[in-house]
Amino acid sequence: MSERLQGKTAVITGAASGIGEAMARLFAREGCHLILGDVRAEAGQALARELGDRARFVHCDVTRPEQVEALLGAARDWQAHLDIVINNAGIVGAVGPAEDVSVEDWKTTMDVLLNSVFYGMKYAAPIMKAQGFGSIISTASVAGIQGGLGPTAYTTAKHGVIGLTKAMAAELSPFGVRVNALAPYATVTPLVAKAYFDDYAELAATERQLAESSPLKGRPGRAEDVALAALWLASDESGHTSGMTLTTDAGYTAGARPEVPTFAQREAGLVREEGA
Ligand code: NAD
Repeated sequence: MSERLQGKTAVITGAASGIGEAMARLFAREGCHLILGDVRAEAGQALARELGDRARFVHCDVTRPEQVEALLGAARDWQAHLDIVINNAGIVGAVGPAEDVSVEDWKTTMDVLLNSVFYGMKYAAPIMKAQGFGSIISTASVAGIQGGLGPTAYTTAKHGVIGLTKAMAAELSPFGVRVNALAPYATVTPLVAKAYFDDYAELAATERQLAESSPLKGRPGRAEDVALAALWLASDESGHTSGMTLTTDAGYTAGARPEVPTFAQREAGLVREEGA
């Protein structure tokens, strides 16, 4: 164990699976106290038990502002300070052409992917301002930078997360609080396994598919890649960085393109077949 987060306390939402779980495992190894929030109580509790005394699970539906407030309060009350908040919980949300997306599904997607991040920032702000320090990190996506990479509602929400990140970085900088975002490209997690193969557990096939369709030859995006980026933003090593969106995208937003399109691009009709 090294000590890049020694003495710090973090809240991670969506910690029971995928990227959030990888963050929890890495942060625990780096000496951090952790409050793990998720709606999946069984998986979240099992992870907290596995990580030992420094981790606790708190049931939290991020679409419920009072539950997000309680989650952050639990961390502050436990360790008397709250160093890191990671707004990470997510779903794919409403899919299909905009004209077919129901208003209800649109609103639900915004609740889980965007309004939740506002709650995380809103309730972290007074705690961190009073302390005079803190690092807020939100998992956006390359779909928050560019259109055409994900469903319309997802793309809109993730653009919102990056907008919120910049707005809150400007608002909280005078108080010593940093606000940054992460923008992964397709990453091997249960969310993507479900989207590609209709099976949360199909991680091996997802890894093969993402290796094949990666802009960086043969190298799939892994949850650990995103966790390592989060570790830097969470630690004091990034102490002069705020308002940034850190990509883990194999060069995609710089213009690197996979030879083979992703499943998602094919499914969304974003790939023109030869001769079409
Ligand atoms: P995942 O499905 O493996 O994990 C998401 C977690 O969020 C789950 O444990 C789920 O229970 C939890 N969650 C969902 N709704 C919730 C709610 N209302 N309240 C509390 N918890 C809730 O997915 P993942 O791929 O690890 O995704 C994590 C984040 O990364 C998401 O915000 C996602 O949009 C983003 N992201 C993922 C990818 C990718 O390719 N996997 C790429 C870019 C961004």
